[in-house]
Amino acid sequence: MPDYERNIPKERIRKRKIRKLKQAAIYYGAALLVLVLVVWGLVSGIKGLVYVLTPKPKPVRPSVEQLIADGDMLAASYDFDKAIEHIKSYGEDYIEKPELTDAIGRYENAKATMVKFEDVHDVTHVFFHALIADSAKAFDGEYTQDGYNQYMVTVDEFKKMLEEFYNRDFVLVNLHDIAVQQIDENGNAKFVPGEIWLPEGKKPMVISQDDVCYYRYMQGDGFASKIVIGEDGYPTCEYIQDDGTASYGEYDLVPILENFIHEHPDFSYRGARATLAITGYDGVLGYRTCPSGEGYTEDDIPKAKAVADRMKELGWVFASHSWGHRRYGQISAEEVGEDAQKWENEVKPIIGETDILIYAHGDDIAGIEEYSGDTFNVLKSFGFNYFCNVDSHISWVQIGKDYVRQGRRNIDGYRMYYYPQMLEDLFDVSQVYDATRPVVPEI
Ligand SMILES: [Zn+2]
Repeated sequence: MPDYERNIPKERIRKRKIRKLKQAAIYYGAALLVLVLVVWGLVSGIKGLVYVLTPKPKPVRPSVEQLIADGDMLAASYDFDKAIEHIKSYGEDYIEKPELTDAIGRYENAKATMVKFEDVHDVTHVFFHALIADSAKAFDGEYTQDGYNQYMVTVDEFKKMLEEFYNRDFVLVNLHDIAVQQIDENGNAKFVPGEIWLPEGKKPMVISQDDVCYYRYMQGDGFASKIVIGEDGYPTCEYIQDDGTASYGEYDLVPILENFIHEHPDFSYRGARATLAITGYDGVLGYRTCPSGEGYTEDDIPKAKAVADRMKELGWVFASHSWGHRRYGQISAEEVGEDAQKWENEVKPIIGETDILIYAHGDDIAGIEEYSGDTFNVLKSFGFNYFCNVDSHISWVQIGKDYVRQGRRNIDGYRMYYYPQMLEDLFDVSQVYDATRPVVPEI
């Protein structure tokens, strides 16, 4: 130790060392920062250079022919605004293409001839169950035969009915088209009649299908087994043949209606499809997605979700049909809440949000009086705004302050056999009735 340091107290030496260390830290820290900045600058520069030197792909512009074909499709389903918007997506220079400006002119002229459907309270709503694809199997004399004969419609019958709906100027609309929620000047939500604009003489119709789950008890009885998305990107049905092999095609309502709309876009108002009512206890769309149900397969959940996602893109709408096919009108508000919670836990992750409840067994929570009370409040708390029961009137619509309710007409063997006159506005039963149905004993 040098002499001159001998008398310096240790504390001062320590402080001096700390000071030196601090200076070094600042020095090296600054140097490191400069280095980082230099490297970052170089990398960005190179990236920028690469970006500048890379030839950019020209934006792909749809052909004029394709735009007009798509626009015509949209216009055929009365969606004129969307058709015009689609043509204009060509770019600002669409104006220089006479074919495009002509198309817009055609759409504007057609739009001007549309008539607002007078009263949405007159919109009829028909519903079906799973369609019988093979009547020899459904009507095989087993104990299930009478039920199928009463509640179901065959594929052949449905196809004939659809043609007839179309011939009689019905146009499929979305349930949500009937009434829409509006926020008034005080910020309060209320439902008001929707506006449906159709050619003079055309009539809106809602179609729904219940229990689109392909329950296990129906397998082997001539029904489809599940909905899948075909290679063409559209939903189709799987059907299991006797030898265990799967066939795909029009074995139920979804692919039949989807294909019908492709051929007749003017049957679908602005791309509307049917509303499908889904329970949870035996899975959805033919996938065994219920954890407490038989045959539960975890892998089926993403499969079912992919099918539902694609169907929603195409305009299909999903509704709750309760989780356990429960009679909401007969059980307590608390039990309704428990069932709705199960549906929310198991079915909603697959089919997504819905504000439509289609009562199982058509069992409404009230008579024709306006909704109120505990059960209604529970259902509102689960987000339901649109409620459907079963009713024999041609149309029955109630637009409440905070909900919309519609009666649905059952189209099935029972109605066709005993009350054909109640279906006269829709089709002539004698023209559609399937000759393969077993004879119903007179009552
Ligand atoms: Zn049902």
